[in-house]
Amino acid sequence: MDYIRVWTEMDVREVQDHIIMVEDKFGHCPGCRQIGIKLTELDKCPGCGREFRYVTSKDASGGKSDVVMRTRKKLPDLVFVDYDDYIRITGKKKAENLFNV
Ligand SMILES: [Zn+2]
Repeated sequence: MDYIRVWTEMDVREVQDHIIMVEDKFGHCPGCRQIGIKLTELDKCPGCGREFRYVTSKDASGGKSDVVMRTRKKLPDLVFVDYDDYIRITGKKKAENLFNV
């Protein structure tokens, strides 16, 4: 199988509420800020119990496909969200909330 980036309409809140950020071997839950989460058989945060459906990684910033592929192999049940998109959209939302747009 090959990887191809697909744009789709997403509810950003839904993504934010079910995402895990990963680095090489461990994950970080943005919900409860737990770090060092093991990536094996991962479906829930051991800290706050959030269900993980999406994953992203700072290391994949700029579209580094090898990082995406490695992460997908470790967490095949999660949807890989483009890191730059995620940061751009969540940053935009933050600004909107700040200014009450
Ligand atoms: Zn958590």
